[in-house]
Amino acid sequence: MIIAANWKMNLSRRNAGDLLKSYRDIAATKANISDGGGEGDKKVSGVSSGLIAFVPACYLPLAEDILSLTSVQFGAQDCHAEAKGAFTGDVSASMIADFSACWVLCGHSERRQYHAETDDVIAGKMTQAAQSGLNALLCVGESHEDRLSNQSIDVVTRQLMSTLQIWQSSRADNSTQLLVIAYEPIWAIGTGLVASLEQISEMHAAIKACLAGLGIAAPVLYGGSVKPDNAADIFAVADVDGALVGGASLNAEGFSQIVEAAS
Ligand code: PEP
Repeated sequence: MIIAANWKMNLSRRNAGDLLKSYRDIAATKANISDGGGEGDKKVSGVSSGLIAFVPACYLPLAEDILSLTSVQFGAQDCHAEAKGAFTGDVSASMIADFSACWVLCGHSERRQYHAETDDVIAGKMTQAAQSGLNALLCVGESHEDRLSNQSIDVVTRQLMSTLQIWQSSRADNSTQLLVIAYEPIWAIGTGLVASLEQISEMHAAIKACLAGLGIAAPVLYGGSVKPDNAADIFAVADVDGALVGGASLNAEGFSQIVEAAS
């Protein structure tokens, strides 16, 4: 299982440092979950299990200090779709890679909603990440209206197809970039509402079928109000390869329980 933490725009520098140290300790005591990394070999490690912390960009140096020589991988919550230039306030993939990060979160619904990110822009970010040696965790998910009108699978399949087809066509033949997908129904993010186990199972199977059609094999995580008390049930669903955890990742004890449920 892969357990990824999305801190969003939270935590003071001091609290961020404390939480990163807790992650380091959690990974050290949960042998099963820490296989995804490896001391000194983070860039080429496998991706079937492990902890990944998506921290605010300003805490990348902190993450580098605390997590280097541990099995916990880390990354940024966004990067720009261009390599460099006049993009005030933005952060490039190569800047992220400079802090020994391994990952970039791409296409989170909050970026799609508040920054109007389209599938093409998201594919551009994934490509930039690849060019800087970073892996990509791509988020997809439907709105509440899509769910109510029975459009969920169509919407998610469209997001995957349009992003991944662009990404595949611009991907270098010798690219070693790892890809992970997170299915995050928008209506379940930060709301306390969780997709039912049947909804998760149906969607994860549909995502895996879509990926197979594109010739891609990638782990598929579930995200949306994952908590210590629902994690074990979600992890038991077929085709669920882990979780992307927002709110509950900010609490060391709760996050540790989620990791325990996956071990
Ligand atoms: C997220 O931000 O990706 C997320 C899943 O948040 P939460 O766990 O708080 O719903």
